Amino acid sequence: MADLHIYNSLTRKKEPFVPLVPGRVTIYLCGLTVYDDWHLGHALQAILFDTFRRYLKSRGLAVVFVNNFTDVDDKIINRAAREGVSHGTIADRYVKSYLEDLPTLNILPADHQPRATEHIPQMIEMIGRLIDRGHAYASCGNVLFDVTTWPGYGQLSGQDPDANRAADDPALPGGSRRHPADFTLWKAAKPSEPSWESPWGPGRPGWHIECSAMAAQYLGTPFDIHGGGLDLVFPHHENERAQSEAAIGKPFARYWMHNGLLKVRGGDKMSKSLGNTLGVRRLLERYSANTLRHFVLSSHYRSPGEFDFKLLDDSAKALDRLANLVERVQAYQHRPGPAAGAAEAAAPLLEAAGRARRRFDECLADDFNTAGAMGALFELAGDANRTLQEWEKEPTSTARASALSAVGSAIGQSMELLGFFPLATEAARPTLAGPLVELLIEVRAEARKRKDFAQSDRIRKRLAELGVELKDGAEGTRYTIKAKEGEG
Ligand SMILES: [Zn+2]
Repeated sequence: MADLHIYNSLTRKKEPFVPLVPGRVTIYLCGLTVYDDWHLGHALQAILFDTFRRYLKSRGLAVVFVNNFTDVDDKIINRAAREGVSHGTIADRYVKSYLEDLPTLNILPADHQPRATEHIPQMIEMIGRLIDRGHAYASCGNVLFDVTTWPGYGQLSGQDPDANRAADDPALPGGSRRHPADFTLWKAAKPSEPSWESPWGPGRPGWHIECSAMAAQYLGTPFDIHGGGLDLVFPHHENERAQSEAAIGKPFARYWMHNGLLKVRGGDKMSKSLGNTLGVRRLLERYSANTLRHFVLSSHYRSPGEFDFKLLDDSAKALDRLANLVERVQAYQHRPGPAAGAAEAAAPLLEAAGRARRRFDECLADDFNTAGAMGALFELAGDANRTLQEWEKEPTSTARASALSAVGSAIGQSMELLGFFPLATEAARPTLAGPLVELLIEVRAEARKRKDFAQSDRIRKRLAELGVELKDGAEGTRYTIKAKEGEG
């Protein structure tokens, strides 16, 4: 096994990874704000950290993984107001659909999935400690962190606090901040918003304090790895780190890992407006979980490429080629009467299988280079395909069969280690719903072209009965599939 190195955002370099407690790794990953269905941008992070956990486990490490839900936040409150329901109803709905989707994507559940609103007392306790230690102050029912009391402030993000104004609560009266970069730990209650009692009056916690409180509770401090998207480095992680270390008086996270954000053409990071077309459920109608995972792992986690549907199609094709090879290898094993043959003829392929396994491990040990690791497997598949072309013409031999079996297990086991469903199985295929709806949309468009509106209306109506809603627009017809009763 190659020595593991991880790029640490705090030191801005790749460092040897040495867990605090030998044999055990503790990870906290900032999770979803649950106000809408999750999309490919979220899935990218979930798949990445699932893969990292699997790899760490394969190295014999016990992994404790915490992934929280932010279940009180402006976006949730706004949506609840729009729908006339409580913020808890909104949060429950999206927590539930996220948890239901995880197994579909072969993502292992976290060891702890704490929700912010279930840890208010721990946050209040931490805020109280910050006030006692002189790092925070109350002001008009709010509590703010005083950045000037923490010399390490700005180290993680490289930001100069004097050049930054806190933007986490623009509604806060300007005069109540001592320093423009001071950030909110506790927000005074506003009418019609959810609130909790506190020593500073009714209110709700700021976003950053929830992760500090929950990480400390489930992992203790310091813990090994703190993960999140690059967009969280500032202010979220900078603030988490400052308030945690100031409150606890010792280091918080040892390694900070940040995944790059998926971009769409035009350079925007994946945003809410794309949630419809790139919603996880919508994508799974057209692409298999394996295809999504292949797409995600084909780039380095720190710099995912631009998103394009063509890349998903390419991933699907690449996996097909791999599945075909696995089937070809299995077929070779089942050919009648393996005859004894010279072992030397099979040696190069056997060596290639061993080389691919070593390369696979070296890549993953080098800051989780999943693209390189998969590259080693696809290279081996190419070698095996070329070799099989010759071998299939000749009588079978036991040495060749066992070399092929080594190739098959190198590929199968390695793909499984990365979190793929076994290749060429039902779970590896997409559902048919998406392509079938698209076919009906096409038939309906043709009916409309020949002014057969009775037919086109019938298709729309029947699809609506099945929970598929069609929307005609300038760019053609789009569809949404409504979740079943009770799924929200
Ligand atoms: Zn967080």
